[in-house]
Amino acid sequence: MDVVDELKRLVSIPSVTGNEGDIGRYIFNRFRELGCMAELFQVSKNRYNVFAVLPGDGKSDGDSYARNLCLLFHAHMDTVPPYKMKKPFEPVVTEGYLWGRGSVDQKGGIAAVIGTFQKLASDSKRMKRLRESGKRIGFIGVIDEESEHRGSMAMKEMGIGAGYAVVTEPSGLKVGVGCKGTVPVRVTVHGKSSHGCRPWLGKNAIEYAMRIARDVIDSELPVMEIYGMGNLEDPVNLGKTSATINLGIIQGGVAYNIVPDECVLWFDRRLIPGENPDDAVEAIKGIASRYNKINNIKIKVEVARPDWNWEPIKKRGLRPALTPLDSRIVTVAREAHEEITGEKPIVYFTDGYNEMDFLVNDLGIPTIQYGPGDAALCHTNEEKMNIEELKSSVDVYSSIIEKICR
Ligand SMILES: [Zn+2]
Repeated sequence: MDVVDELKRLVSIPSVTGNEGDIGRYIFNRFRELGCMAELFQVSKNRYNVFAVLPGDGKSDGDSYARNLCLLFHAHMDTVPPYKMKKPFEPVVTEGYLWGRGSVDQKGGIAAVIGTFQKLASDSKRMKRLRESGKRIGFIGVIDEESEHRGSMAMKEMGIGAGYAVVTEPSGLKVGVGCKGTVPVRVTVHGKSSHGCRPWLGKNAIEYAMRIARDVIDSELPVMEIYGMGNLEDPVNLGKTSATINLGIIQGGVAYNIVPDECVLWFDRRLIPGENPDDAVEAIKGIASRYNKINNIKIKVEVARPDWNWEPIKKRGLRPALTPLDSRIVTVAREAHEEITGEKPIVYFTDGYNEMDFLVNDLGIPTIQYGPGDAALCHTNEEKMNIEELKSSVDVYSSIIEKICR
């Protein structure tokens, strides 16, 4: 199947987080059709990670099959909801773009890997060489990336291991070498209520929350330089990055004439490589405790996100990751990109988060992010895949395999 049709099929199977059963079975069957070893790994009820390996025959010996991969492609199969997108699951192609929910984030990456495996599987000479070398290429499709990351968390349990990995999230065909981590922090300030005409009898939780918010926002955050990144056309990414904090939600108050007894602040703290989520939370606790002591109000600081109920992810957090720029996977991806597109790729570090975190930090695999599509379109009502990029990514992935799995 042509890679554009492949993406159409994938987009037409809804897979909003929590409902990845159908897409998982479809992708599993596609890899089977291509002659891969493929398996469905149940993560939770009717929610499966898909794991596939090429070549799919011979030398299959259970666990070590998953562990000794030369190269692993990683993708998440879930999408955000359609929101106000028109016809989210009826993909149409116009003016070089394929529209649909998930077309960029990130079924384009999945279609590109299927396209790459199809290309390889139909090339008998390359398959023969691969079989003789004993090298295997893997694909892992995970669930739940847009929420609690249960799919990628399960990779450890699945026993997956590889020399190198490519996260196929959209990068606009730039080579991503790292990502920030993120820790969601909720600060709950408990004051004391009173009538608004006698505020001195109460403790205004909103006022204290405002001071705490100011201090948290003004606190100094670490900065780092990552040498060798970017190029002159991309001055934003010349190698400097810093941790950030965003106060996204403030909740509090009942009526204008009542002293509020509770105020909740929700922060999104982004971490740079080398930072630990626990330390970031401790720093906010430190600020809160100053008010605790002085005014004897109660303040609770905890890791919390409106959609996180699962304890393991609260405990683990989402960590930053960085693959050294002299790692072989970075060099090879640069060469492959230039070979196919005729242009030197931009190498960058993303302010966003992606699941290279799990590959780098849990499995110890040097990983890059490289995928088709404009990341700025993720989660929007205008999500559409650039078809040129989609096609190029198949060729670049093939070239990466050729170079790294000799
Ligand atoms: Zn994504």
